[in-house]
Order: sequence, then C-alpha cells, then structure tokens
Amino acid sequence: MGGVMEFDAALDLVLREASRVSRMGLEEVELLASRGRVLAKEVLSERDQPPFDRATRDGFAVRAADVRTEMAIVGQVRAGEQWRGEEMRAGQAIEIMTGAPMPEGADAVVMVEHVRVEEAQVRVQEGRGLTAGENVVPRGAEARAGEVVLPRGTVLGAAEIALAAACGAATVAVYERPRVAIVATGDELVELRDAPKDWQIRNSNSYGLAAMVDAAGGEAVRLPVARDEREALRERLTEGRECELLLLSGGVSMGKYDLVEEVLAEVGAEFFFTGVRMQPGKPVVFGRLPPRQSDGAEFGGRYFFGLPGNPVSTQVTFHCFVEPMLRAMGGAEVQGPRFAQATLGENVPGRAGLMRLLPAGLTSTRVRPEVRLVGWKGSGDLGANARANCYAVLPGDVEGFRAGDVISVLLR
Ligand code: AMP
Ligand code: MG
Repeated sequence: MGGVMEFDAALDLVLREASRVSRMGLEEVELLASRGRVLAKEVLSERDQPPFDRATRDGFAVRAADVRTEMAIVGQVRAGEQWRGEEMRAGQAIEIMTGAPMPEGADAVVMVEHVRVEEAQVRVQEGRGLTAGENVVPRGAEARAGEVVLPRGTVLGAAEIALAAACGAATVAVYERPRVAIVATGDELVELRDAPKDWQIRNSNSYGLAAMVDAAGGEAVRLPVARDEREALRERLTEGRECELLLLSGGVSMGKYDLVEEVLAEVGAEFFFTGVRMQPGKPVVFGRLPPRQSDGAEFGGRYFFGLPGNPVSTQVTFHCFVEPMLRAMGGAEVQGPRFAQATLGENVPGRAGLMRLLPAGLTSTRVRPEVRLVGWKGSGDLGANARANCYAVLPGDVEGFRAGDVISVLLR
C-alpha cells in the first residue's frame, strides 16, 4: 500500500475515497447565510418560471400573423400589471414594458427601437417581419412548478442563492460542515501570541490551513502545535480523530525528526500514498486511521493528510488533494482541483523531471488570460505565494516552455 505516485494516480485515489465518504447531518439556515454551503435537500420551483408569458423587450405586443405597417394603440401594460382590456384584434397593438405579462391574444413584441409612434398609431419599420414568440419567454419555459431547480449537493453561490430566492426559499437545508483538525508539527514552531527566538519560526501553516478549510466548506479546529516527539504526535492523533478529517503539517520528509509517518504507521494507519511526483509537495501523505484505536474507541476510519511543512507546499497540496476530499465530505459532487488553462506570457526554461506547480499571476486584461511566474525563493517563500493568485502547472516531461504556450493553472 502507498508509495510515491504520479500526480494523476494520486488524485484518482483521493477522488475514489472521496466518492465513498458518508454524509454529514442536515441543518436549516437562512438563505443569505447559505453562501458556500452545500444543499442537503433539493430546491423546487415554486411555480412555473416565468409564471406568465413574459415580454423581454419594451415595445408593442402584437399578433405576429397580422402585423401591419400601421396599427392602432389600444392600451398599455406595465411590469407588475395584467392586461384587463378586451382580447386584442387584428390591426391592434398594446404598448408593453419589459417584464410585463403578454396580453391575451398577443404572441410577439415589436421592439420600441423598430417602430415610430404617431399619436394613437404605431408604424412598424418597413421590412421588419415578426415571428410568433419573438421577444417573449413563454410561461414555464425556464422551469415547471415542482421541478428540481437546485439538486442536492449544489454548492450555494450568488447564482444559486438568486435562483433559490426566485423560488421563494427563505431558508434552505444544508449539510453540516465537516470538522477538520489541524495539527502543525515542529520543534521550531511558536504560536502567534508568543515572541519567537532568533532560531524559531512562527506557526503560519495552521492559519493558512484554517482559512483554506473554511473556504472549502469545512470547520477548522486548530489544535496546539505538536513537538517532533512520538508521544506528542500520538496525543494529537487522539484529539484529532474527534474531527471528520485530520490535517497534519510538517514532519513527513526524510529528516531524522520527521516522525509523522512512523507514528501513523504505529497506530495502524492505512496509507493510500506516501509521496507524489510533484514539486513543491512531494512528501504529501494520504491515508486513513483504523476504525478501532488501541484504546478501543471507535472512530469510523478517519481520513488524514500529512502535508509537507514548507508553507507553499502545504498550500499547493491542500488545493490539489485536500480540497476535493473536503468538498465531497461536505456533500458536494466529487470533483478534482480547479484547473484552468491560460497562455504563458514568458519563456520558462525547462527542467524535465518532476511536475511543477509554481506560484504565478493570472491576469485577464484581455479576454485571453495570461499567466506569468512570480519570482520565488522556493517553497518556504510565503511572500511570493501571496503575490501569486494561482499556480502554473509545468509537466515534468516537457523541456522548456515558450511565451504563447497554453498551459494549465491551478486556481485557488
Ligand atoms: P518539515 O516538513 O517539517 O521538514 O518542514 C519543512 C519546512 O517548513 C521547515 O523549514 C519548517 O520550519 C517549515 N515549517 C514546518 N511547519 C511549519 C508551520 N506550521 N508554519 C511555518 N513553517 C513551517
Ligand atoms: Mg518539521
């Protein structure tokens, strides 16, 4: 089991496990509080959408079959009103506004831009034919009453919230957020409230991870830093298994005090992989704790990731592997990392070997997005990581990249 894998094989394993996770419980939340949450019960269309044949242009409602160059204006219907006059007859037109229901008998709207109004007459521009249904969305064309408009598993963003609002959903049922234990490991780490000695490092990973967990729909539980000692690590594993997912950072490389893998193995963990051929992020570990622990407690096989301690590696591996897992645990459809494509804005000298994911800036001053690397001093360079807004993906089997090449980028 385990071993060092190619990126795609590792991702396959994460997605396979992600498709097996059990569902979280449900809670009902106010619609506006649901952004970023995952729907646990589908949202149905309250009624036909649109609820009436809707004019989509300002103009004149007519019967397409008998449009004439000159027609008599017999009334007006505004949005929020309903035509109460007589059914329209041949040669008649009713002034209508965008969003208003079509009057009985009318089946098309001549745009106001295409007519000239003279007193009670409307003159349609020469040669302007009109077909039935033009500038009208028929009742129920977008959705039928009772139809599912937002299925279970939908992640709620602005578009979904607007649709739910259109369906009268004042509250929605969402999945509870999976809790994610965050354990930073390292003898050199000090917390934010403490003053670091010259040779010490602030624990930044716990904060970065907590922010990423939150953005990916989880609830971060930051545990105290674990020293690079077996006992301390074991203790944190015991605390961490209370959460649905366990993230460790640091201690997964080849150093003498990198004990994370060893301690996980001692408690009977199953490893899906213990490394991925990527840079940064090679030491990343993915596995599952045994359902029954040595103290006899049952915890239903918690998944864990051992992320490399270097802060850029931590973040890259989170986006690649943890995010898809966490979203699936939260009830969303199983999906891989958010890759897109962009045009490389500069030459990048090749270094065939590992697949690289380098901090980069994606700019969209044109419709065609362009990506350039951010200068960095390696996977500890948090400044470069913050100046970036994505990671440029440079496959290991390509010798050199040229400006104009289309490459993948990992969005964050
Ligand atoms: P490790 O993966 O434990 O070998 O750590 C690799 C590098 O990342 C070292 O330079 C560590 O000091 C640094 N590092 C490890 N954990 C953290 C953390 N929680 N916050 C900031 N830097 C860290
Ligand atoms: Mg360490």
